[in-house]
Amino acid sequence: MAKKIVSDLKVKGKRVLIRVDFNVPMKDGAITDDTRIRAALPTIEYVLKNGGKAIVFSHLGRIKEEADLAKNDLRPVAKRLEELLHQPVQFVNATRGAELESAASHLKEGEVLMFQNTRYEDLDGKKESKNDPELGKYWASLGDVFVNDAFGTAHRAAASNVGIAANVSETAAGFLLEKEIRYIGGAVDHPNRPYVAILGGAKVSDKIGVIEALCEKADKILIGGAMMFTFLKAQGKNIGTSKCEDDKLDLANELLAKAGKKLVLPVDAVCTKEFADVCGVVKSVDEFAADDMGLDIGPKTLELFKKELAGAKTVVWNGPMGVFEMKNFAAGTIGVCELLAQLKDANTIIGGGDSAAAAESLGYADKFSHISTGGGASLEYLEGKELPGITCVDEK
Ligand code: ADP
Ligand code: MG
Repeated sequence: MAKKIVSDLKVKGKRVLIRVDFNVPMKDGAITDDTRIRAALPTIEYVLKNGGKAIVFSHLGRIKEEADLAKNDLRPVAKRLEELLHQPVQFVNATRGAELESAASHLKEGEVLMFQNTRYEDLDGKKESKNDPELGKYWASLGDVFVNDAFGTAHRAAASNVGIAANVSETAAGFLLEKEIRYIGGAVDHPNRPYVAILGGAKVSDKIGVIEALCEKADKILIGGAMMFTFLKAQGKNIGTSKCEDDKLDLANELLAKAGKKLVLPVDAVCTKEFADVCGVVKSVDEFAADDMGLDIGPKTLELFKKELAGAKTVVWNGPMGVFEMKNFAAGTIGVCELLAQLKDANTIIGGGDSAAAAESLGYADKFSHISTGGGASLEYLEGKELPGITCVDEK
């Protein structure tokens, strides 16, 4: 069954509550990257063009104490939204109360209202993050229909997603959320095969659930990143001083047994003697010295991955292949970007904050079918878990 999307709604003359993800990086009150604001424009513009009254809201950062309030004020974001939309955005510096209620009820067709950070409500008993039923009901009362376009928080039930949805007549997905459902949901529910997963990044322990789920679903799982060393050590290899989770060796062995030939481990790595951006030496994974530290996958591994990826129709990738932040250890991650860019007729999906940042900073962002906007949410979705922020959207 397909989910209702914003373009299925009749928005004309309606107050449309739009939950976006404006959790942008900030420094000293200034936005350092507005990608997330830009990404939400299609949904907001659609509502405005079709005569809706847009009530836009988001969380920003975490609110644990008074001091967090000023740091996570959404006002600069409203200003930026105004510039990007080329029209005024009325900002209410509150998450409830008479001013907000009056602004919402006086909003005209094609106008935009934004209210303060939904997590300001967390200061008093975590009302937003714990989905306080009264809060969701209150926010729902400000509008007529609800559009959820925030994927990054879809794996948690909050008042601003699930809570509102429970109290409005209609809930639809925004265009961003719809794209996540189409690509990640598609890979989970009915992947075109061969289906290859590439997993890397820092820790096995972050990704156990995903590896287990992919053992069932994917045709191949290619492993890189620091997590490769936990698997290699579990196989009895000497990994020198490479990053390893020694308390996860048994688990790694279980996964190796469960996955059998599906799991493909690197055959070589780029090593140094210290964690620094210096020129490394390529070594076979069978010839590490006691003081070798592996910081990237090697060229033979890329060759192997190329063979495994030939003809793939669905590829999901989570976690960089090496310490891509250092130029001497970015080649493996760049190589995988290249391999995926060359695949024909394949759905290529990146999930994970650092992997997405890697693809962007290395210049490959437009080469993928989909780069997920949610780190934790995309992992849980790939695991096959139900995401409350998606479940709460109506079926068509
Ligand atoms: P994602 O956010 O995409 O899920 P992770 O957070 O799991 O990815 O991991 C990203 C981090 O893993 C990067 O900062 C990268 O430097 C680090 N990393 C990758 N390979 C290695 C390695 N061999 N040794 C140490 N750190 C590594
Ligand atoms: Mg990360």
